Amino acid sequence: MKIFCIGRNYSDHIRELSNEKPSAPVVFMKPPSALLVQNKPFYIPDFSSEIHHELELVIKICKNGKRIEPAFASRYFKEIALGIDFTARDLQSELKKKGLPWELAKAFDKSAPLSDFIPLAPFKDGAIHFRLDKNGQTVQSGNHREMIYSFEELIVFISQYFTLQMGDMIFTGTPAGVGPVKIGDCLEAYIEDRKMMDFDIK
Ligand code: ZN
Repeated sequence: MKIFCIGRNYSDHIRELSNEKPSAPVVFMKPPSALLVQNKPFYIPDFSSEIHHELELVIKICKNGKRIEPAFASRYFKEIALGIDFTARDLQSELKKKGLPWELAKAFDKSAPLSDFIPLAPFKDGAIHFRLDKNGQTVQSGNHREMIYSFEELIVFISQYFTLQMGDMIFTGTPAGVGPVKIGDCLEAYIEDRKMMDFDIK
């Protein structure tokens, strides 16, 4: 199982980090050991003093494919979840400055809390609104229509380089509002009014 993540897929988040708008999707990966499921607590790792939450819509690939044509891309996912792309922002800034890969800052153990998947069909025609509350206050909100690259475009792009396999996931990027978490925080994530995740930072 592969976990793809997309960087810089919402304009308002690109602005808040003063990044450039990408001319193609920014793709990186996390290993399966990054997953944190069933609302288990997240323990702040000792190698970072600036862990940021990035709330993201996650799609699950439901059939195998490579070099997928745009017209068929929508057939490759049927379910959606919320995930958090925890990022050691202090480490990432150092790595970025040196032009080094981001794995240490992005792909560490349990850096990807993930909710259960739910069917996408009921949401398909509208904008899928999602949000993250930290200690009861909304800190991030967005909807999938604000993405620079759509789910389908991401599938087309990624599948030019990687065979997509059933069970692979794509974390599709974060809207603005990323920020630090500290011990004692409680994070709750919603798709529309449905609570998808609720866990503590320890
Ligand atoms: Zn992210």
